[in-house]
Amino acid sequence: MGDTANERESQKMEFQAEVKQLLDIVINSLYTERDVFIRELISNASDALEKFRLLSLMESDFRDKHLPLEISIETSEKEKTLVIADTGIGMTREELIENLGTIAHSGSREFLKRLAEGDRGGAQLIGQFGVGFYSAFMAASSVRVLTLSYRPGAEGWEWTSDGTGSYTISPARGLSRGTRIIVFLKEDAGEYADPLRIKRIIKQYSNFVPFDIKVNGEKVNTVQAIWTRSKNEIKDEEYNEFFKFLTNSFTDPMYRLHLSSDAPIQLNALFFVPAENPERFGFGRLEPGVNLYSRKVLIQQNARDILPEYLRFVKGAVDSEDLPLNISRETAQDSRLIKKISRFLTRRLVSFLDEEASRDVERYRLFWEKFSMFIKEGCVNDPDNRDQLARLLRFQSSRAGSGEEVSLAEYAGRMKENQKAIYYLNGPSREIIESGPYLEAFRERDIEVLYLLDPVDDFVMTALREFQGKKLVSADQADLDLPPVEGGNSDRGDALSPEEIGSLAAWMREVLGDTVSDVRESRRLVDSPAMVVNPDQVLTTSMQRILQAADKGYGGIGPKVLEINPRSGIIIKLARLRKEGADGEFLRTCVEQLADNAFLAAGLPGNRGNMIDRMYRIMERALEAGPR
Ligand code: ADP
Ligand code: MG
Repeated sequence: MGDTANERESQKMEFQAEVKQLLDIVINSLYTERDVFIRELISNASDALEKFRLLSLMESDFRDKHLPLEISIETSEKEKTLVIADTGIGMTREELIENLGTIAHSGSREFLKRLAEGDRGGAQLIGQFGVGFYSAFMAASSVRVLTLSYRPGAEGWEWTSDGTGSYTISPARGLSRGTRIIVFLKEDAGEYADPLRIKRIIKQYSNFVPFDIKVNGEKVNTVQAIWTRSKNEIKDEEYNEFFKFLTNSFTDPMYRLHLSSDAPIQLNALFFVPAENPERFGFGRLEPGVNLYSRKVLIQQNARDILPEYLRFVKGAVDSEDLPLNISRETAQDSRLIKKISRFLTRRLVSFLDEEASRDVERYRLFWEKFSMFIKEGCVNDPDNRDQLARLLRFQSSRAGSGEEVSLAEYAGRMKENQKAIYYLNGPSREIIESGPYLEAFRERDIEVLYLLDPVDDFVMTALREFQGKKLVSADQADLDLPPVEGGNSDRGDALSPEEIGSLAAWMREVLGDTVSDVRESRRLVDSPAMVVNPDQVLTTSMQRILQAADKGYGGIGPKVLEINPRSGIIIKLARLRKEGADGEFLRTCVEQLADNAFLAAGLPGNRGNMIDRMYRIMERALEAGPR
């Protein structure tokens, strides 16, 4: 082409003014984070290979067909050089001048301004502005680029520069396809001739570059960027291999979600739920497990902001071309793009789990057993996805068999017509809940009650407040709005009249003093004589228990109302004996014991101090009466 005379010889050329300015900063003021130059050169090599791979699919005539697509790095401590070679598209003379002599990127001025202003993230920013190549001068006293374009008939070229103002281009013979960059290391950058150091940097930043990277002939990257490949060409084993690599484990994952999206955001994501949850065994809090990539180049390991904290059990990779390479912890936090990606991915993950739950019930049961704590955490902390997360919850219930668990959707689907709320009851075990007084009213009305066996469940229910428009209500609340019992409850035999119960309640209030805030007639109890209910609409009794255990300073258990059953034999006898003027002291003892039993059934301490003594006194009386 054209001016062959000049092109045949070595030619000295000036860098574009902006490049000079940039190099000046790179050489003179960016000393920290030098490692990134390796990442940048590998990323360029990977791009060149990627471009070649694409072109080789469309064109049939190109150079050195036999060459494997790979990146070879050679180090020489003796010569203090680092060589990074690829078998990618290479560059023609024009391309060399265009790419390594100018800055084409439109944001370069802004970038230079920030660098000149001493932006400390400068070195990290380099890749974003399409000036990654120049970062080599952070560690190089001079750089030599040998390159041969993939185009048939192209000739080889050599580009050299010490980064101060100009570069030289001359023809080069005997090259094969691709680019070879020789970095002559500065006096104080000898560490980059150490192969161990290079391998470590590659593992950290470029491990999933989808081409082999060899350091002095040894392949160092293990896994390819399989998240960017198309789903239907990846075998299960490959996914599992990748998962094992990612987690340093030997087990296959429980779930896998591989998604690609072009709108609203371009991204590829591959997520795994591991088979086990180490937090369950007290291994401490999990680190976030998702790595962030931009075009297969790692930009953040264990990225904090890509998924909400409660999804920290999810492992995997997120790759978006739209992400700048310079994302640091701080910038990620307030990056609008990251937020957008995070919202999108969180929604997808949560609905994925919901789909899995109905697709394979047995597997979901296993998931729930191990990972429920995270979903519950999400219900409390992620209002945006609360409704979806609530669908993932599972509870035992009065209707399901022991060990079986139901979802809120199932419960809601079989609610009674006139039932207004979803009811739940917290307790340490199914047996204890079922033997307590609280279920009586529900049994009588054939209303299902969820059994919350995990102390945090109450917090979850309080955070949710409702599900599909139905309120979530603790069955120990004082003012339950239950539908009337079918057929009424008038035919249940002996009962105290309203006046009798009123006067008994007033006297019991006096006997019990501060232990209860009120004594009232119960409209719910069927068999038990009494129960403690909670007048607090927000804090359930179970939550109060937790708060008290966690913080001794918490004002103790809130006020409690004692409900008494006007149909209970014990209550009736108490009322009648009192009216007849029987032994006041003994009746008081019975009332105290009655209240304590109710407190115990509610899982509350009651007045245990003299309970035993009281029990003996009551037994003695009973024995005195003798067998009937
Ligand atoms: P960016 O990679 O963002 O474009 P760089 O400064 O890293 O910016 O590289 C500038 C350009 O130089 C690249 O776009 C590419 O065209 C060319 N280049 C750099 N390294 C190579 C390489 N190893 N093989 C082919 N072309 C390369
Ligand atoms: Mg680059």
